[in-house]
Order: sequence, then C-alpha cells, then structure tokens
Amino acid sequence: MNQETFPIVKDPTPSLREHSRVLSMDEILTPEFQAYLDKLAATMLVEDGVGIASPQIGRNIRAIIINPTGTIESWINPEIIKASDTMVESEEGCLSVPGVYGIVKRHKKIRVRAMNRHGRMEEMDVKGFPAIVWQHEIDHVNGILFVDKAERMIKTGKHI
Ligand SMILES: [Zn+2]
Repeated sequence: MNQETFPIVKDPTPSLREHSRVLSMDEILTPEFQAYLDKLAATMLVEDGVGIASPQIGRNIRAIIINPTGTIESWINPEIIKASDTMVESEEGCLSVPGVYGIVKRHKKIRVRAMNRHGRMEEMDVKGFPAIVWQHEIDHVNGILFVDKAERMIKTGKHI
C-alpha cells in the first residue's frame, strides 16, 4: 500500500482524554471521509497496530479501525450494548503510549453495535482477542487510555 499516513498523537496530549463526537450519515458517505478511513487504516498498519481510533491522530470523532485477525474493519459510532460478567486479563500496549504495557481487565464477551463504513448499522457478538480490541478502541473515543485501567505494568504487550 502506497498511502499517506498520519502522525500519532501521544499521551499526555489533552485531546486523547476528550469524548469524541458522533458522526452523521452525511459525513460518513463523503469521499473525503472514506479516504480518511483508508489513511487511518494505513497509519495503523505502518505503526504495527492491531487497532486505531480516530482521536489517536488528533481527530475527535467516533471512528475506529480494528484488525485483530488480519481483516481490516472500519466502524463508526461504535457502542457496547451487552457485556459478559466474566472478565479476562489482557496484555496491552497502545500506539499513543509508546513503550508502556500493562494488564487490563476486559469483558470476555461483548455485543457491539456500530455502522460500517457505508453507513449500515450492524450488531455482532465478539469474543476473544477481537473483543479486547473493540473495548480498547471504544475506550479511546470515550477519552480513556489503557493505562487508566491497568492493574499492573508488564514488559511487553500488543499495540492496540
Ligand atoms: Zn490504543
């Protein structure tokens, strides 16, 4: 992919702590926004992340990219509508918090609702590592970083 990328915004930039705004259908369907999603995905790939959220490049809108299994998906206005009581320990890092890794407790299973890049609303059950990535990215659009939730720090983890 020969594509431009964005610089990553790093902690402690205040905008990473802001609640991002909801996107309208009109905004999603513009060619500019579609190109933006591709550039966001390219940024994630270049930085070797398995997910990225729009606030991480300094645009506080509710758009995330997830790539836990090698298939790049863009999701707009994502929300968790159901979460298991069972929690799992996840080893996480973040492109916006370089060199720092920690154990975060996440829901084992979640049901998510989001619009795909064409504006179609979808609902799905997610478990395992993809569920971790969804929770990490949704935290980003709510102004939360994994270090806020980490129970203890570790030497290495995945860049989510
Ligand atoms: Zn992150």
